[in-house]
Parts: sequence; C-alpha cells; structure tokens
Amino acid sequence: RQEQYRALRDQPSLTTDGVQIGLYLNAGLLVDLSHLAETGADGIGLFRTELQFMVAERMPSAAEQQTLYEAVFAAIGDRPVTIRTLDIGGDKMLPYMPKLEEENPALGWRAIRIGLDRPALLRVQLRALLRAAGGRPLKIMFPMVATVEEFTRAKAIVDREKAHLSRHGHPLPSDCRLGAMIEVPSLLFQMEEIAEVADFLSVGSNDLMQFLFAVDRENRRVADRFDPLSAPALRAFRMIAKAAAGAGCPATVCGEIGGKPLDAMALIGLGFREFSMSPASIGPVKAMVLAVDAGEVERLIDSELAQARDGYSLRPALTDYAKAR
Ligand code: PEP
Ligand code: MG
Repeated sequence: RQEQYRALRDQPSLTTDGVQIGLYLNAGLLVDLSHLAETGADGIGLFRTELQFMVAERMPSAAEQQTLYEAVFAAIGDRPVTIRTLDIGGDKMLPYMPKLEEENPALGWRAIRIGLDRPALLRVQLRALLRAAGGRPLKIMFPMVATVEEFTRAKAIVDREKAHLSRHGHPLPSDCRLGAMIEVPSLLFQMEEIAEVADFLSVGSNDLMQFLFAVDRENRRVADRFDPLSAPALRAFRMIAKAAAGAGCPATVCGEIGGKPLDAMALIGLGFREFSMSPASIGPVKAMVLAVDAGEVERLIDSELAQARDGYSLRPALTDYAKAR
C-alpha cells in the first residue's frame, strides 16, 4: 500500500472527469514540513501556530516568533502556506499562561476571542508574520470566528499592523490574504456575508461537527452519535460550498474529515476542491481522487439528499459507489 501511494506522489491530482483537487498538509511544527517533499502535497493548508507555543517554556518573544515563521517560509519554498493565528483555550492551554477556570472551556474564552480581547498578543503575532513573510505572499486565517464582525475587527488589526510596518520601511507581503475558519455554526447563517469579506474560507470540520451535533470531539463515548456523512452534516457542508462558490471565495476543508477518502469524496461531490490533512492521508485521498468522477458523485449526492429523511446517512450509498469504482 505504502509503495502504491508513493508511486502516486508525482501524479497530478485529477478526478477521472478532469477536476483538479488540491491536497495540502496540516502542520504545526517545523518537523512536519519535511512531509511536504515525501507526500508531494501542494503546500500547507493549515499551520497551527499554537503548537510551537505549546512546546515552548515561556511565551515566545516577538523576535522568536518571527524566527519561527521565517523558518516555516524557508522550508516551504514556493509552495503556499496558510497560517492560522493562535488557537489557544478550549483543549489547548499554554503551560505558562494562567489557567482559566471555566465550566465549558470549549465554549469559553479561546482563539480569536482572546485575540480580540487582548489585541497585544494578536498584534505581536501578526507583526511577526508580516515581517517574516517579507515580500512573499501571505495567507493568514482566524480560528473560531462566530460573527462577521469578529472577522472584520481582526482584519482591521492586520491593516493597522501593515500600515505600521510600511511606515517604518518594512516590505509588505506581495499579496496578503485573510481567511475565516468555518467551525462555529453561527457562521453557517452568515455565509454570504463572510464569503464577501473574507479572501478565503477554511472549514474546521472537527469543531463544526462538535458544535453542530453538540458532541464533544474528545469524548469517545459520544463519538458515534453523529455521522459526518448524514444528511444534516452534508447539507451544512453544501451550504458552505455553495455560498463560497457564489461569492468566488475559495474554500478548503482542513478538519479530519478531509483526510478520509470516503468523506472527502462526498465533499468533492458537494463542490469542495481543496483539502488539508495529515501526511498519512495524502496517499489514500489521492488514490480516491484519481478513481472518482466528480460529476457522478455530485449527481449521486444531490439525488440522495433530495430524498433523505431525518437522520439519514449517505454512507451506505457512497460506500457502494466507491466500491464500484
Ligand atoms: C478543526 O476544528 O476542524 C480544525 C481544523 O482545527 P483544530 O482541529 O485545530 O481545532
Ligand atoms: Mg478547530
């Protein structure tokens, strides 16, 4: 199997009907970047910056952060990388930060909420990123955005940092794109607006499923209580894909679902064209892409969803289709 996947490495990632599917890696530490060459991935679709903060003994200084990001840019070469601002809080605490006593950390003070309430922290990180990028293109995305206003406030902080750097004679990124993670269900009902203001979207299916089905992603006892291939989940993904396409806003899926061949196949049928996943998933997902007809999956899903009853899962129909390929 491993041999077989390795043989696919340099093949273009095209479905049988010629649809190009971008395959990207999720990363967070410099060692993860070595998987780029080995997997032939198109770039990094999600760089989780909090991992470098979690392994540090104290809060990295501005200069240290800049050095870290410079190393990321050096390792990635000409390939694109999407860097996510700190996603701390919830299940990801920094050992050197005071512990938050919260009843429901997953719903608490975390991610972009901390960034907006303590803009100094966010500003330092953004400045380090902008400086490290130098004149290269830069893609930044914000985690756990719940309202369009949170995104526009975060964007305003980036704009201020850019103005500050250019006043001081630093080169700005040649192209600076800002994205929102779609992982809080409230954004599903602001899709047109967020797709209008964001330069790109990235679906965090781990959190989106957790909040949509009220199922703790860390709790195995409830892990089987929902199916990401059920009609309600797929309808949510379809809403995102349609709104993104309608606004001409690129949308990637970067949660675990994108690394599972059957699930990723369903997402291709819904219109997604870019996935970011762990290194071990690239081979199996690419094998699926090469065997699948995007138009056929789209028709299958449309017809199955049209007749789906409450709680209905498309898994059996999709599995039958995949087996027949
Ligand atoms: C997600 O929520 O799906 C995601 C990609 O981010 P994380 O797993 O880091 O929360
Ligand atoms: Mg998340």
